[in-house]
Amino acid sequence: MEVTVFCPSCGAPQDLGPAEAAKPCAGCSQEVPFKVDEAPGPVVSCPVCGFDKLYARKDFPRRLGCLIVAIGAALSYPTHFISLAAVLVLELIVYPFVPFVTACYRCGSQIRGIARNPAHGSFVHKTALEHEKWKPT
Ligand SMILES: [Zn+2]
Ligand SMILES: [Zn+2]
Repeated sequence: MEVTVFCPSCGAPQDLGPAEAAKPCAGCSQEVPFKVDEAPGPVVSCPVCGFDKLYARKDFPRRLGCLIVAIGAALSYPTHFISLAAVLVLELIVYPFVPFVTACYRCGSQIRGIARNPAHGSFVHKTALEHEKWKPT
């Protein structure tokens, strides 16, 4: 299991492995607390703040996605839009293989490398507004 937490003081993201209980923040050097619940099976509550409202989303690197689309768009004229079609096909092929990331509504922590809990639905904006403290991008 790997967790990305957001510093409670400055909001800087931190990647934590299972062996690390706390790690000084890269932004403000404050220790970021981290409780690992190494229970087997899908995650039920946030390992950082213990909140039980989590959501699952596809962990597709957004910047990479934008870059691919930009390249496809840039090449669309010389390739007679074949490049745009190629981008679309590429995304359709890759999408099922993109892993899920589970994220916490309250602290924004992202949990990877653990089975997705089927009880966690996709991101609901209303729920996020009710609980979200940080707005990670
Ligand atoms: Zn910090
Ligand atoms: Zn949390």
